Amino acid sequence: MACKGSLLIVARERGRFSWHKVYEPQSYYFSYKEAIAVTVEVYKSLKEDLLYERMNTKMIFRIKKRFIMCLIFILIFNLNITTKALENKNNKAIKQDLLCLMLAYPEDITDIKVNDNGLIYIKMKSQKLILYDDKKTKTIEEKINNADLQDTMEQLYPLSFPKGLMEKNFDPGRLRNYELLKEVYGSTKSSVEANLKKANIGYGNLQFNGNNNAAKELSAAIKEAATMSKGNENIRRALFPTSGTFNYRNISGTNRLSPHAFGIAIDLASNKNDYWKWASVKEGEKRLLTYPKELVNIFENHNFIWGGKWNHFDILHYEYRPEIIIKARYFSGKIEDDSVWYKKILLDNIEVKEKIEYINKVIN
Ligand SMILES: [Zn+2]
Repeated sequence: MACKGSLLIVARERGRFSWHKVYEPQSYYFSYKEAIAVTVEVYKSLKEDLLYERMNTKMIFRIKKRFIMCLIFILIFNLNITTKALENKNNKAIKQDLLCLMLAYPEDITDIKVNDNGLIYIKMKSQKLILYDDKKTKTIEEKINNADLQDTMEQLYPLSFPKGLMEKNFDPGRLRNYELLKEVYGSTKSSVEANLKKANIGYGNLQFNGNNNAAKELSAAIKEAATMSKGNENIRRALFPTSGTFNYRNISGTNRLSPHAFGIAIDLASNKNDYWKWASVKEGEKRLLTYPKELVNIFENHNFIWGGKWNHFDILHYEYRPEIIIKARYFSGKIEDDSVWYKKILLDNIEVKEKIEYINKVIN
């Protein structure tokens, strides 16, 4: 629950009502708990308040009573309005995420289910249900270790080229939901291996996951980049020689599987300043700012995210994550209270339109 706006004191002063703003919150929304704490604080400091000083002692008792009643009223009033506004905004964000997921994994996600407690699941073609949002308040560490789908899509991936390293803990796309990856690309080493295809990159092949068009998009991206690299030495040096695709391993220093283990990530040409564990912030930033943005654009156009847009930078790393790119493409703007949750242009495509209608039916 959350409140919005400022706390006001309503007092009847010499026969007329007056309003006194006593608390302007830093953020647009503040928590219910915070509102109560502020109320108590304001009440305690009432003696020093100008309003209070102008009253005679007889009035003080009456004002005190009114003050408390008014604050309670305002809190309840605010809560009602803002919980609704928040619900509305949250609902829009939920629908956008679900649409991006359905568009990103069209053959794997068959339905959306909402259970009696209001928990939302995506249903996979195997009948498995994957929870969209566990509704838990988690620390960043907890999110990294146990990301639900909502967590993985929370930070909006920017499509523009960065002007410097991303701010602390801004790592859009670095959180992964392993239930989804295992369903789409293979749940064990041998099942991932069975799904690997040879992605033709013009002068040879790379092993990449054949499911959900991953290998096809890699091959298209590299061919395009290779063509562009012919007239551009900076691109050529960033592209070749590639440093690896499929590798069934954990992320270094963790017990979480790397996206390379699913055959959906590629490391392009390596530089000693590419990785946050190898290089200082200064070195990483220097490398980032000289990196060819045309190369990043090509990969993003083929639904790959780039590790250069993470605070935990991984500049040679590209990862096939269509849901993150689709969200960046269509839903990068602020969610307005009074507008529809989807971009009107999306209705031009009949399949997308059907999905929008379906989501509207399932999520009220
Ligand atoms: Zn990598």
